[in-house]
Amino acid sequence: MSDFNVEPLRQKHYNATVIARHDVTQELFRIRVRPDRVLPKFLPGQYVAIGLGYWEPRVEPSQHEEVPEDKRSKMVLRAYSISCPLLDDSQQLVTCDQLDYLEFYIALVRGSEDPESPPPALTPRLFGLSVGDRLFVAPKITGKYNLEGVEPSDTVLMISTGTGEAPHNAMTAELLSRGHHGKVINLTTARHRRDLGYAREQNSLMNQFPQYRYLAITTREPENLDPKNPAYVGKVYVQDLISQGKLAQLVDDPLTPDRTHVYLCGNPAMIGFVPPGGKPLSQPGVLPLLQQAGFTREEPGCGHVRFEKYW
Ligand SMILES: Cc1cc2nc3c(=O)[nH]c(=O)nc-3n(C[C@H](O)[C@H](O)[C@H](O)COP(=O)(O)OP(=O)(O)OC[C@H]3O[C@@H](n4cnc5c(N)ncnc54)[C@H](O)[C@@H]3O)c2cc1C
Repeated sequence: MSDFNVEPLRQKHYNATVIARHDVTQELFRIRVRPDRVLPKFLPGQYVAIGLGYWEPRVEPSQHEEVPEDKRSKMVLRAYSISCPLLDDSQQLVTCDQLDYLEFYIALVRGSEDPESPPPALTPRLFGLSVGDRLFVAPKITGKYNLEGVEPSDTVLMISTGTGEAPHNAMTAELLSRGHHGKVINLTTARHRRDLGYAREQNSLMNQFPQYRYLAITTREPENLDPKNPAYVGKVYVQDLISQGKLAQLVDDPLTPDRTHVYLCGNPAMIGFVPPGGKPLSQPGVLPLLQQAGFTREEPGCGHVRFEKYW
């Protein structure tokens, strides 16, 4: 797009600056963004739209995208849960409301798996950002995925895939800082251990807070794939952990609806929501299992299961 003067467009649309970027892997980063204006108040677990112009370059390799002339000066926006760094520089717990920036935990989608869908538009551009670069952050932070109805002695079970850990980190920090004494369980799944972008902070929090458990399940490590590996456990599915009672054993809590709140975030296949009249999934997700066990999607309170699908 060399024939195109992008500076006036950037000045017109962008209202925030990248202040830090931590690459967990080549396809996963934690990024801190400071909006020009004072941050509005928001609840841990909520999300905000961020965006870049279609005029920005894409990282390679990523799926080829033809941007039509009339779209070149337009913006692409996507929703992102607000994460939390969990620890400050002195390794003490920090909550989102103590920060003057927003932290995001974002996976690079290089190409769309569905040949019918358009190429991913935002993440190949976001991954080109460096410290000091500008972008757009929507003024409104929103979402119903939050800690409403959680009492201090309740058990909170959060289950995520990949970057679905982001809102759970924000909620974890809030619960631990406000003296929540029920169990707080943050279970996440990732392909590899190297994809666990908050492992160091999570381990430190477990040492500081006995009621906190961070559990990580991998799916592509040698112990998941190679039966000859001495540590072989095969593929572990969250669904099996729940239905076989192993999760309750692991966290030493009955996880019954009368005292537990459940949060599910990330890949729709893990969540397993089927809209009324929708086609049943070949591999049922976690939601129907929880519903069979007596959890509902009704009022916030014990026995409530909430979910946030990322696509
Ligand atoms: C409420 C909400 C909060 C979200 N929060 C986050 C977040 O904190 N971090 C984050 O990485 N994403 C998050 N997402 C997904 C995000 O909005 C984008 O869809 C994603 O970053 C891909 O953007 P894209 O424009 O590159 O591709 P899109 O055109 O939006 O998506 C292309 C395809 O990529 C796949 N995909 C989308 N998101 C992911 C993902 N996270 N991991 C792997 N594959 C994916 C899906 O197959 C999707 O159809 C959230 C989505 C919603 C609805």
